[in-house]
Parts: sequence; C-alpha cells; structure tokens
Amino acid sequence: MRGLTTGLAADTAHGAVVPPVYLSSNYAYEEFGQRPNFDYSRGGNPTRALLQDALATLEGGAGATVTASGMAAIGLVIETFVPIGGHVVAPHDCYGGTWRILDTWATRGRLSVDWVDQTDLDDLREALTRPTDLLLVETPSNPLLRVTDIAAAADIAHRSTPTPGRTVVAVDNTFCSPVLQHPLGLGADLAVASDTKFLNGHSDVVGGSVVAAGTEDAEALAYLANVTGVTASPVDCWLTLRGLRTLAARMRTHCDNARAMVEVLTGHRAVRAVHWPGLPDHPGHDLALRQQEDFGSLLSFELAGVEAVRAFMTGLEGFILAESLGGVESLVCHPATMTHAAMTQAARDAAGVTDAMIRMSPGIEPADDLAACLTEALDRAAAA
Ligand SMILES: *Cc1c(COP(=O)(O)O)cnc(C)c1O
Repeated sequence: MRGLTTGLAADTAHGAVVPPVYLSSNYAYEEFGQRPNFDYSRGGNPTRALLQDALATLEGGAGATVTASGMAAIGLVIETFVPIGGHVVAPHDCYGGTWRILDTWATRGRLSVDWVDQTDLDDLREALTRPTDLLLVETPSNPLLRVTDIAAAADIAHRSTPTPGRTVVAVDNTFCSPVLQHPLGLGADLAVASDTKFLNGHSDVVGGSVVAAGTEDAEALAYLANVTGVTASPVDCWLTLRGLRTLAARMRTHCDNARAMVEVLTGHRAVRAVHWPGLPDHPGHDLALRQQEDFGSLLSFELAGVEAVRAFMTGLEGFILAESLGGVESLVCHPATMTHAAMTQAARDAAGVTDAMIRMSPGIEPADDLAACLTEALDRAAAA
C-alpha cells in the first residue's frame, strides 16, 4: 500500500533506512534572503512533512496537516471553513469530544449546529436546506456503529447549498482508517482522523490529521495550523509514521478479532444486543459492504443492566478498561460514564447510548485468548 513506506531509505545524509527525527525548532538560512524549505518547526518540520505525505497518499488527497490531537484537527477544520456565525450540520451520535467542541462554540455564539441522524438521508436533506458551511460526517459512528452513506451525503451537501458560499464535507475516518474506507474517493472534501487511534495504533501518541482533496483547501488548513500553532511535535510524528508502517496488517487482524468476538457475543445468553456492521441484521450492513473494505473492529453490545456491566468489568482479563480505541491492546469502555460522559443525558438518550452498553476495541492478540476471557466475563454478567 503506497504511503506505508514513505520516507524509508530516503535519507540523503547517511542513507538511513528509517528516517531520522528532526527535533530542531529552527533551520539555518544558507544565504541572506533565501528562505530554506523549512525555517521554523511550528509551520514546517521534515519529520512532520513525511507523515503528512504518507497520510495524503493513503487517503488519496492533495495534502495533509498533522495536528497535536484529533480534536485539534477538528478545531482546525472549524476555524478554517466555518466563519463567525456560520452553521454546521453534525451527527447526533458523534464522538463525545466533537459534540463538546461544537456545543461549546454554539453556547458561546461562535456558530450554530444542527444534530442530525445522518443515516436518514431525508433528515439530512432537510437539515441542509439551511445554509451550511460544514457538514461533518462520522462513519461508522461511536458507539453504535451506525453507517452513513458518504457518497450520498456529500452529493446532497454539494448540491444543496442555497448560499453564495459552499458546504465543505468533512468525514471523520478515525474508525476505518484509509485501509478500510476512502472518504475523498466518495466525494468528501476532507478526511479527518484522530491519529491517536488506528493510524498510530500503539496507544503512545495523541495526534490528529486532516487530509484535503483539493490543493487550495490543503493550503488553507496548513496556513491556519501555523497561525494557531496546533501542529504536532516531531517525536509524535515519527512514532505515528512508525505505527503507520504496520497499519494494513494491524487492520486485518483487528477486523478478524472483531469477527471472533461477535461470534462469542451473539451466542451468549447475557447479551441483549450486539452492534457491529458485519452482522447481516445491522441496519448499515449492506452499505458497509459497499462502502468499506471490511467491517472494522469497533463494536458495542448491551447487557441486562448496570449491575451486569459491573459484574462483567469486575475481574475482567484480556481487556483493559480504558478510554480510547484502535491500539494493539484490547480495550473495553462504558460509554455512558466514560467516553460519552461529557454529553447530557438527553443527548445520550437521543444518540442511543444506554447505561447497559459496553464498547469494545479488540486488539491484535490471539483471538482464542480473547474469546476465553470474554466468555468468562459474560458468564459473570449472566449470573449477576
Ligand atoms: C478519539 C477521537 C477523536 C478525537 O481525537 P483525539 O486524538 O482524542 O483528540 C475524534 N473522532 C473520533 C471518531 C475519535 O475516536
């Protein structure tokens, strides 16, 4: 997969197979008045530039900006494309931090937001009759794994702008990564990611990125990233570039492990519901089959109630109870009290996040070991 080998054996100084990390904050001018390729690392850094090239190649875009976190990337998209008083349409069940940044800016009068169930294209069409600067899509969604039709959503947004402006379509591609899904190929203008998750994949970096389909958008993002100083550190970029080398292999194993966990969950009496696009009765199954290379590894399931959740978590082996996802290690979390705690109860209810729900991010450990640990925990939940 082109992109995964970016920077390898490209070192002109010593022929290093693995590119060095450039920590220097500044770069010498060889001659008076002659600006070097890089001058100051906030705006440009050779290590960050390699990661940006790799991500732009993987997503099929004109250019990328790598930021200090996924939220910094989403904040940068808002700053770049939503004017003061502008309007955003976002998923009603988006990532908790995305909900929080939009809610915070809306509360302070920076912008207005419509929260829409984007799996219903009629609702989306209706929302976009209002002049909209930014359509934010997140698919599959968190934690219910609802699937939104990127091509249809982008088409509706691009056709329906009843203003002189334009509706920029940004897809949060964190859950699939460019190995499983190509938003820009489906008509989106931007692919946003929390690099913290699958892209780095080793739970040792917080980072983010925006890849733009068009050169002008890529330049506008790079400009404002330098202006606001949200760019990522060279060490984080170097680690993410190293993580990226194994992305394709990791995604394969993540998806296979998800399949194995779903088999355990669907066959166990403690489980009331399983949400994963790979299940034929999942509402987004056919769309995921078309739109994605595989069904992804994130899944969620529901037990009988909070007491069953407590029994499941108490003594749990093989899975770490922690926020985040997409690392080589298997995680579980309780969205209502963890990842989605920043949402109001009403917002959680609207998004379908129940107190009996557990989200799982299977890692890349042997599936048999994980299945044994999961079965033990479900047995405890059933007895609670
Ligand atoms: C984690 C996450 C973010 C935010 O990224 P950070 O790196 O934590 O700032 C945004 N969107 C999705 C889907 C995420 O999972």
